[in-house]
Amino acid sequence: MKKTLVNTCRIVLAIVFILSGFVKAVDPLGTQYKIQDYLEAMKLGGVVPDILTLTASVAQSALEFCLGIFLLFAIQRRLTSRLITAIMLVMTPLTLWLALANPISDCGCFGDALVLTNWQTFWKNAVLLVCALIVTRWPREMFRFVSESNQWIVINYSILFILAISGWSLYDLPQFDFRPYHIGTNLRENWERTMDGEDLPYADFFIERADDREDITETVLQDTGYVFLLVSPYLEQADDSRLDLINELYEYCHDHGYPFYCLTASTENAMTQWRDRTGAEYPYSLTDGTTLKTIIRSNPGLLLLKDGYIIRKWSHNNLPQIEESLTVLPLEQLPVGQMAANSIPGRIAKLLMWFVLPLALLSIADRTWRWTRLIRRKTRKERHLENSKVNPNPINNNNKKMRKKIVAGNWKMNMNLQDGIALAKELNETLKADKPNCGVVICTPFIHLASIAQFLDQEIIGLGAENCADKEKGAFTGEVSAEMVKSTGAQYVILGHSERREYYKETPEILKEKVLLAQKNDLKVIFCIGESLEEREAGKQNEVVKAELEGSVFNLSEEDFRKIVIAYEPIWAIGTGKTATAEQAEEIHAYIRSIIAEKYGQAVADDTTILYGGSCKASNAPELFAKPDIDGGLIGGASLKAADFKGIVDAWKK
Ligand code: PEP
Repeated sequence: MKKTLVNTCRIVLAIVFILSGFVKAVDPLGTQYKIQDYLEAMKLGGVVPDILTLTASVAQSALEFCLGIFLLFAIQRRLTSRLITAIMLVMTPLTLWLALANPISDCGCFGDALVLTNWQTFWKNAVLLVCALIVTRWPREMFRFVSESNQWIVINYSILFILAISGWSLYDLPQFDFRPYHIGTNLRENWERTMDGEDLPYADFFIERADDREDITETVLQDTGYVFLLVSPYLEQADDSRLDLINELYEYCHDHGYPFYCLTASTENAMTQWRDRTGAEYPYSLTDGTTLKTIIRSNPGLLLLKDGYIIRKWSHNNLPQIEESLTVLPLEQLPVGQMAANSIPGRIAKLLMWFVLPLALLSIADRTWRWTRLIRRKTRKERHLENSKVNPNPINNNNKKMRKKIVAGNWKMNMNLQDGIALAKELNETLKADKPNCGVVICTPFIHLASIAQFLDQEIIGLGAENCADKEKGAFTGEVSAEMVKSTGAQYVILGHSERREYYKETPEILKEKVLLAQKNDLKVIFCIGESLEEREAGKQNEVVKAELEGSVFNLSEEDFRKIVIAYEPIWAIGTGKTATAEQAEEIHAYIRSIIAEKYGQAVADDTTILYGGSCKASNAPELFAKPDIDGGLIGGASLKAADFKGIVDAWKK
């Protein structure tokens, strides 16, 4: 029930954000005009430069589109849903204000594709806010279409795609034209119907001769032949880099008797300057500035009418050029004079081809890969069960081979900075020269981390902290947060060590918080569990480790639990020189694996790395590591000398 609710909300939000971002990206200038309308309504018109409003327009469309895609693919579920909630928390009251004060007629959330009233927008946002809160409350309930390892493809592709759409629409014209002046519109008929009193969006369309202010709208629209309209809302801001093409086209029109008008809302002064600058000979006519911006998203832009129909539109970057040898021909015989191919299904098909199809194929490939991996694991497990029937104590069985082996050092509160750096350097050189057969990690005091991270080859030796705070940030003097640990370059953190449980009274609840924060900051947790001597003597070791797992890590989703490394450390063996025998250790490791299997299934249990810790040395490591459920060690005392530690690492070579 909860899953269905969260995923329904997530799909609704994703679709709305994707659509809203996309329609804005196909018309960046339209979105910029809307932002300027908002600024005007806030009495800030003219204060913000155009370049900033245009950048804001492109950024807003990209943000909305990408958040929609990330939510759809459940990428960074927690962060994405929080960002969407933050946006809705700002937008909902803002649109309530718009609905109450009515400073602008429509909010422009879907560009010109879908115009909503201010109240409709407010109610839409209220519903989306509720959806966003639900998704933020349970982000982990969202199922994935693409596994985490492949998400970078979706992220980069979506960002590139939406920026390319905005860029192309700015260079040329909007790829989808939802405005009342799109290609194929019968401008004459629509204008006449508006004049007859119908409520159509052409009421502000007029053409007035600049010299004598005579209204010539009807004359222009009644023309049954070709009419060129050069549209420039404000000539002083128009791009004049393609003037030669405009002038050549005007000459061609002049020679063939096609009317050519320059429609503008500029002042007389600006018209004179444009004429002086460009040598323009075409006549000027006046039109409403906002209408001109609506007609074409280019300054200047060119429109071709034929018999009252808009048959072509060009941006100033893509003006038509008629080859000299063809200038004798009339427009009927030239491609320029034909109605532009403007098939919406064709454009949608292109969009599907370039964006939806690649991502759909990626999802299918990813899901198939995951599914076959599950099958492979299942087969492996069945084979393992078969094997264990034949040989009940198989060493280095298949499952063990598949698991990650780790030898991790825990330096505890030893080594000053200089000694620590020297030890890390020595280990780095040694293991670079003689590559280990297992993962190697060193967990050091906080103050060593940043310095060691500078030179450590983390392909060979991972770096980790010995602890982190159970709070995200703030007034907690002396504490070090997971985020801080991560920022040093460390990848791991030890949590739940018996010394911290005992001396610093770290309870299962505190550890649960620490684990969540560590994972939130992408730190791999080495989670320690283990019983005291009294508990072992009372035969309670299984009970103790089970409670420790249940108290702090069994709350995690399967996906997050898979990122945990368990370290079983009997407290009576830590630093005492008393090692658990290999059989004792194996017995409890096998038990730990069985309770993980009960909780998360056999496949997860088979993949979980379980380390042994407690007076592990080069001399006893081979025997311990040979056991089927022991995947390496967490090493205290013996990690303080490079040679001792290397001896344990080398146990995996035996
Ligand atoms: C430890 O503290 O994690 C540990 C295993 O210590 P030692 O190896 O010194 O027993």
